[in-house]
Amino acid sequence: MRDAPATGVRTACPYCGVGCGVLAGVAEDGAVTVRGDPEHPANFGRLCSKGAALGETTGIDGRLLSPEIGGRQASWDEALDLVASRFAQTIATHGPDAVAFYVSGQLLTEDYYVANKLMKGFIGSGNIDTNSRLCMASSVAGHKRAFGEDIVPGVYEDLEQADLVVLTGSNLAWCHPILHQRLLAARRTRGTKIVVVDPRRTATADDCDLHLAIDPGTDVKLFNGLLAHLERSGAVDPGFVAASTAGFAEAVAIAGADAPSPAHVAAACGVAEVDVRAFYDLFAATERSVTVYSQGVNQSAHGTDKVNAIINCHLATGRIGRPGMGPFSVTGQPNAMGGREVGGLANQLAAHMGFDRPDDVDRVARFWNAPSAARTAGLKAVDLFRAVGDGRVKALWIMGTNPAVSMPDAARVRSALRACEFVVVSDVTHTDTTRHADVLLPAAAWGEKSGMVTNSERRMSRQRAFLAPPGDARPDWRIVCDVAQRMGFGDAFDFDDPAAIFREHAALSAFENDGARLFDIGALASMGDADYERFAPTHWPQPRHGDASQRLLAGGRFPTPDGRARFVAVRQEGPALAVDAARPIALNTGRARDQWHTMNRTGRVPRLMANAPEPVIEIAPEDAARQGLAEGDLAHVSSRYGFARARVGLSKGQKPGTAFLPMHWSGRFAAQAGAGALSSPLTDPFSGQPELKHVPVSIRREAVAWTGVLITRRDLRPTGFVHWSRRPVESGWIYALCGTETPDQGILLSRQLLGAIARDQLVEYTDRRGLTYRAATLDEAGALADALLVAPPGQLPSLDWLASLLGSRAPLRPAERMALLSGRSPVPMPAVGRIVCACHTVGVTQIAAAVAGGCRSIEAIGESTRAGTNCGSCRSEIRTMIDEARLQAAE
Ligand code: SF4
Repeated sequence: MRDAPATGVRTACPYCGVGCGVLAGVAEDGAVTVRGDPEHPANFGRLCSKGAALGETTGIDGRLLSPEIGGRQASWDEALDLVASRFAQTIATHGPDAVAFYVSGQLLTEDYYVANKLMKGFIGSGNIDTNSRLCMASSVAGHKRAFGEDIVPGVYEDLEQADLVVLTGSNLAWCHPILHQRLLAARRTRGTKIVVVDPRRTATADDCDLHLAIDPGTDVKLFNGLLAHLERSGAVDPGFVAASTAGFAEAVAIAGADAPSPAHVAAACGVAEVDVRAFYDLFAATERSVTVYSQGVNQSAHGTDKVNAIINCHLATGRIGRPGMGPFSVTGQPNAMGGREVGGLANQLAAHMGFDRPDDVDRVARFWNAPSAARTAGLKAVDLFRAVGDGRVKALWIMGTNPAVSMPDAARVRSALRACEFVVVSDVTHTDTTRHADVLLPAAAWGEKSGMVTNSERRMSRQRAFLAPPGDARPDWRIVCDVAQRMGFGDAFDFDDPAAIFREHAALSAFENDGARLFDIGALASMGDADYERFAPTHWPQPRHGDASQRLLAGGRFPTPDGRARFVAVRQEGPALAVDAARPIALNTGRARDQWHTMNRTGRVPRLMANAPEPVIEIAPEDAARQGLAEGDLAHVSSRYGFARARVGLSKGQKPGTAFLPMHWSGRFAAQAGAGALSSPLTDPFSGQPELKHVPVSIRREAVAWTGVLITRRDLRPTGFVHWSRRPVESGWIYALCGTETPDQGILLSRQLLGAIARDQLVEYTDRRGLTYRAATLDEAGALADALLVAPPGQLPSLDWLASLLGSRAPLRPAERMALLSGRSPVPMPAVGRIVCACHTVGVTQIAAAVAGGCRSIEAIGESTRAGTNCGSCRSEIRTMIDEARLQAAE
């Protein structure tokens, strides 16, 4: 890792919804360095492990560099002509609803705007949906039901000004690390109480005052109980309820019937009554309360009801629109909010207008001068891919996302893509989805494109280019406009740059907007190119006239016809699918600490892959014992939709009866470990968001007979293995292999992966019993090129030394050659072990040594090793190691 630049291009991190500012610099040798932007109000100079590694993701390995048609290289003109003509033909023959776009929260606002304008305005279909549907659609639906518009009222300062922060369905420590660090810093100074509501004991739950490990899916019961308790205990704000809301009496009556007492709630949610009472009393007594919710709430067949159950409690107490209080949805993706602003969801129109209001439909059509504009909502993601599968959608354009892995019931999505008549994919790299493309369009990546993003607190920030796109790659907005022009819509897509698109987007937000729509950035519609270039992070709204304050809903007026917020009466419903004897475990899915989506960027950074180098399913020790599973075993996990394989990780943080599998492992990084293959496509009736946090599974042990590891410079695609996964290291890859075949068959299979190697380059060894095999190849200079080790389970050596040889690219010394087939260094080398601190590359062995040496606090470990001193995401793992050492010392 290079030192970061003191100055650089001001841009924004492309990962999570915190939206941190980044200063990016390019050295003379082309190396990219990044550091946090000290002036950006989201992060004030800090970056988490993912953001800090951004400079390591900008290489062109694996990039799409030119358009492809049917796998052959093509010119842009040829590819764009084909896309435009096939879409036009399909529309002419089958109507506009026979085509669809599936886009991404990774797109910049300008990309999103033109894609939405093309589909809804000029093709005339609502069939554009986004992977943000999988992330926060339930929050959108809940906000619209309660507030009349998709409003996030709060700002990040609220978490610092609150006396109580409830984190529900949010592993903030890993998924929004910098925001979590801001909260923890505030807690240190003002003593903020933190309550975590999550079935798992996550890293977030390690830093809280009260952890309510409720049973999966029982959130509505918990918050209905809270609403009833607020009324019983006199914590309701009658003035606010009377002046600013409607529907309180019915909501509280139904909540009281659904959750009549803390004892009832405790039993229904699977937590202790004393903890439920403590939470309810704390919330009732604390004026400055913020409730943060995220995918753990949204990704549910009842996600919208969960959102409204939370909002109901804030409306009842009038704790909304004031400093240090409010419901606060945090988004997963960097520009999920921007997508919501431009109408990137199939059931939304642009600029927070809706298909459910005929005036809005007419207004958008007139603004765009688009008489054929869509009049009805399109297909939401799960339904969209069903329509692809059954032939209703015949031409599909996927932009910047990997649904072949990330969608639930992923096998069905892949077969839909195979069946589709015409699939276009624009993306940065090859993915599992690009394999299904008839036309591949190379898109510009982070660092190469310019535009706007909006973070979770409605703050718009600029992403700015500091690198030239490699090969023929182009920005997404340019690609969309090029296709639109070829389809005959040139006048409406005659944009020269993102600034012009943004101005139109801003003008639409203000068009015939008398204040009824709070999303109004009309003041930015006349922004010149220079101002757009200089644009500093700014909250919306930014109306031409009126209130541009960063806090929304401050006056107790809501964007509903009567200005009142709506209580929504909700009842606890069970999960869409219940566990049973055949599938007794409720599988939860989510993020790993250092990974992003399907790993196409973060999976290329060795230090980000070093903390969780293999797919692991976390299981409660009690369940593992029942199933005969031990730590490190290979587990076969199956749901009614598909199966996956992953290593077993025993976790006391996992509630018995539940398991957790990271969402990231695509076919480019493991054989069959994708959570999407298992997940349920059943959706919330209001938001269309699928239930990614709960699917019944069975888990059984695979009888692994051999294990292997290949360390190589080559980018290989293993086939025929029961299980494999890979991770990058300096100058190459490590492939972890295993199988249920006999050891000699495993050796044969692994040897095939090594391929044909000239004998004079190969050294190899097989033991007499045929259980162990070692081989290594050297390049012309005598440096290690490949090392393959196969052994019975548990008998492989540590890989630190071989990986360091591969990374050094230095000719091997005689002693190293002699030791090569043992896999063990001829001289003692400091052991690092699995990486815990990705920011400073500090391993578990180093931290264990520091603990053994007397470090008994996270701060002491930090002073000794630097671990935990940057983004803080590893601090809970360090604390666990310290606690375990204390326990062992006490035994
Ligand atoms: Fe990027 Fe991390 Fe900031 Fe999220 S918290 S925006 S991933 S640096």
